[in-house]
Amino acid sequence: MAQGKIIKVAGSLIVAEGMSSARMFDVVRVSRSRLIGEILELRGDRASIQVYEETSGLGPGEPVESTGAPLSLELGPGLIASIFDGIQRPLQVIRGQAGDRITRGIEVPALDREKKWDFVPRKMPGDKVAHGDVLGAVQESPVIEHRIMVPEGISGVIKSIHTGKARVTDPVCVIQGDDGKQHEVSMMQRWPVRRGRPYAEKLSPSSPMVTGQRVIDTLFPIASGGVAAIPGPFGSGKTVVQHQLAKWAEADIIVYVGCGERGNEMTDVLKEFPELHDPRTGETLMKRTVLIANTSDMPVAAREASIYTGITIAEYFRDMGYRVAIMADSTSRWAEALREMSGRLEEMPGEEGYPAYLGSRIAEFYERAGMVRCLGGDRRIGAITAIGAVSPPGGDISEPVSQATLRIVKVFWGLSAQLAYKRHFPAIDWLLSYSLYTDSLNEWFIDNVSPEWNELRGNAMRILQEESKLEEIVRLVGTDALGWKDRLTMETARSIREDYLHQNAFDEVDTYTSLKKQFLMLRLILEYGVKAQMALDAGVNLSDVINMPVRERIGRAKYIPEDSLGYFDEIEAELARQASALINRGGN
Ligand code: ADP
Repeated sequence: MAQGKIIKVAGSLIVAEGMSSARMFDVVRVSRSRLIGEILELRGDRASIQVYEETSGLGPGEPVESTGAPLSLELGPGLIASIFDGIQRPLQVIRGQAGDRITRGIEVPALDREKKWDFVPRKMPGDKVAHGDVLGAVQESPVIEHRIMVPEGISGVIKSIHTGKARVTDPVCVIQGDDGKQHEVSMMQRWPVRRGRPYAEKLSPSSPMVTGQRVIDTLFPIASGGVAAIPGPFGSGKTVVQHQLAKWAEADIIVYVGCGERGNEMTDVLKEFPELHDPRTGETLMKRTVLIANTSDMPVAAREASIYTGITIAEYFRDMGYRVAIMADSTSRWAEALREMSGRLEEMPGEEGYPAYLGSRIAEFYERAGMVRCLGGDRRIGAITAIGAVSPPGGDISEPVSQATLRIVKVFWGLSAQLAYKRHFPAIDWLLSYSLYTDSLNEWFIDNVSPEWNELRGNAMRILQEESKLEEIVRLVGTDALGWKDRLTMETARSIREDYLHQNAFDEVDTYTSLKKQFLMLRLILEYGVKAQMALDAGVNLSDVINMPVRERIGRAKYIPEDSLGYFDEIEAELARQASALINRGGN
């Protein structure tokens, strides 16, 4: 194990000599307080080390010791409902022991060593197993079964397997290895954060991650295993969107990585998230959530590590066959940490001072998302859907982090401060946003919702785009310049915006809309547009068309409960009746 000495301290970056036997990315212990650091650069026997803790008071001459292993996580029962910092220190436990601020050099294991879990075996002595096979499971929370898998590098025949209570480090299975050795397998395994966990095969995403949020599912859907970015100008409703996704998206596990801007912002997340109620299970949402939190008083280096910590935990649950949604908020803060580290290493700066490898680092994060066939004989499928928030200074997405992100992600939910100002929520701008998954999800929607789905979606989008052109004309020359047809288009567009896209997260019914109901709602609104056009063509005047009494029911259709979707037939029938009554009169 390399033993060196500090020769220079520059903020969270230190340089040590005498480190020739260490390797890149080895974790080191720095000074007598044994602060945690990671080797970023090796030149001869000199190592540049980023320290994950406060470095004040450190000075030349103090010892540096390599642990001989890269920054790794503890993966096993106990992850769910935990709140970790960027290098997986359990914040609740530390707070319990040491108060609000993390004491330097504190050594607390990420997973509780004393807690006993009830291990239920899934294999028997004599069974042949290899990396990824599920040996057994424990009920980690009321809603999550934690599957214990054979770790990397082991294959062979089970000699014995445990049943009942065990701690995470107790052996639960002995495997007679194909390599001739006996392996004792415990419920906890370690994994280096900067290396993606392996899988059998990457699959192309073919089904949506339904979120129950109409503007997302209908106009800008994300595939299960897909990648999305969401910019968040302050006050644009980003937090509410994230909470809605965490609560309602079709995901078994939520991993939330917070890189706080201001210290109190992260504290808000730490307070709010654990209080969220899980509508699916009736439990708190934490029963299927892992939180990674970096407050601004933690060193930049821990922030830089946090998104790798998050995605590694996401991969671990994916490997069990779960659908995981990971949200990183905000990747801009993460990129700033990267920039700061790079500056201290005196690397050649690229655009706006970010290192030249900014783009590839961002890509590395998002590329670890996806739908995969997991390792293991049962051919289970797992998925990670990644949603990254970007918070460009001044909301200007032409800056490097936003641009590098947009090159990778396939969905962009453009939150707009203007829409939020007008209290149109969710403030996802339909003219700015896009989803590159719509084509590949076409078939799924046709098979699972309706053959008409894509046509409806296309029509809605077209009307919204026409509205924006017409608005331009109105701005220049006033409403009088528009013909009846155009005015009707604007009226239908208004209905799409107000009756469909606007969705109140705090209304018991409106907060979630199934795809079936989304389809019925949109069809109804567009049907009004068609009927109204027929009436106009038959000579009915515009104000009668606009004031059809049924429109009030169309406007309230969002409040129809999921178990009463039969009402839509009634409203459609009423629409048809009123339209023909107008036409009959208008024709006279
Ligand atoms: P940000 O995180 O971008 O600063 P928030 O998510 O906290 O903004 O939203 C600000 C406010 O906007 C919320 O307190 C809420 O009143 C309102 N809001 C945001 N989204 C919705 C929504 N979907 N439905 C109703 N109100 C919303």
